[in-house]
Amino acid sequence: MKKYLFLIFIIPAFVQAQKYNYTTIDSLDKSKFVNEHPYEVRDYAATPVRAKKAKNIIFLIGDGMGGSHVYAGLIANRGNLYLRTMPFSGFNKTNSSDKLITDSAAGATAFSAGVKTHNGAIGVDSADVPVRTILEMAEEKGLSSGLVSTSRITHATPASFIAHQPSRGMYDEIAADFLKTDIDVFIGGGRSNFDSLRKDGHSLLPELKAKGYEIITDVNALQDAKGDKIAGLVGEGHLKPVLLGRGDMLMQSTRLALKVLSRNENGFFLMVEGSQIDWGGHDNNVPYIVTEMLDFDQVIGEVLKFAAEDGETLVVVTADHETGGFAITGGSIEQGIVEGQFTTHSHTGVMVPVFAYGPGADLFTGIMENTDIFNKFIEALDW
Ligand code: MG
Ligand code: ZN
Repeated sequence: MKKYLFLIFIIPAFVQAQKYNYTTIDSLDKSKFVNEHPYEVRDYAATPVRAKKAKNIIFLIGDGMGGSHVYAGLIANRGNLYLRTMPFSGFNKTNSSDKLITDSAAGATAFSAGVKTHNGAIGVDSADVPVRTILEMAEEKGLSSGLVSTSRITHATPASFIAHQPSRGMYDEIAADFLKTDIDVFIGGGRSNFDSLRKDGHSLLPELKAKGYEIITDVNALQDAKGDKIAGLVGEGHLKPVLLGRGDMLMQSTRLALKVLSRNENGFFLMVEGSQIDWGGHDNNVPYIVTEMLDFDQVIGEVLKFAAEDGETLVVVTADHETGGFAITGGSIEQGIVEGQFTTHSHTGVMVPVFAYGPGADLFTGIMENTDIFNKFIEALDW
């Protein structure tokens, strides 16, 4: 990530925003980004699908990724993204059970379990009763499962697929819920919710080891992992933004997850989150949004390559909500320049895009409820 090194000198402040524990970056000009290094987009999704029903599902969530965020990435990459190659698309309505404007916990629980619930809810319904998630269903049916995130792995989006807690801030309790499942791979930050830095001082790492997990704490060790079960706790808290040197952590993590999960002949469910697109929106920061968007899109490309070779993998990309009320107010596709403005530091209520490729992808068109994503997964899997 040499190309962004210069930014480290003009971005001295790096603070955690309190309310939802996200990162902000104080750069000199948050309203404009110029992308000097566009990447080539290959058309993996042009490969015809071989199966009628999906054996594997790879679900990619761009947290806070509205239409403007996608288009900002497309402008910055000189008019192309892997997202553009996906043949089916639609919109999802993001409202939660109690609010027009959802948070990421209710948003992810809608995806993971097909229920609208209250903001802050992690894998529980609006009465705080635990709901069975698609990850848990996959495990029960003998499939493998995985979660990959650039935030704490205990943060709202990944947590809602595996944990059952009434409040998203219960990180230590959420971490303990990982041990109640048979998840095969989880990679992200949040090591301090698993080790002796927990509030109760009780490290869960020996229990993870006893359950057969290879515990990885260094991003650079991901590519050498050998285990069939991986606990990748590669940051104490959240991972850094791309702009502050995260490198290709999301790509390495996704590659490892695909390598491990695809060993199961019964198939797998994998959720990969581009967590920090949301934080760029909260921070009203165009460079933060665009760099996270391009990082996420390149991982989508890697996933599409896998799915095209495999032929039985459904790939769905969407967002839990839009963040920032982000509008593109200027720029240039030819020069990869994006200029933007914002209406809020919070989430908004607009519909967000859905993209799909693979067996069952044709189900993901038109305007759907966020809960329909779960129902369509079940249909595509023929469960
Ligand atoms: Mg998230
Ligand atoms: Zn957010």
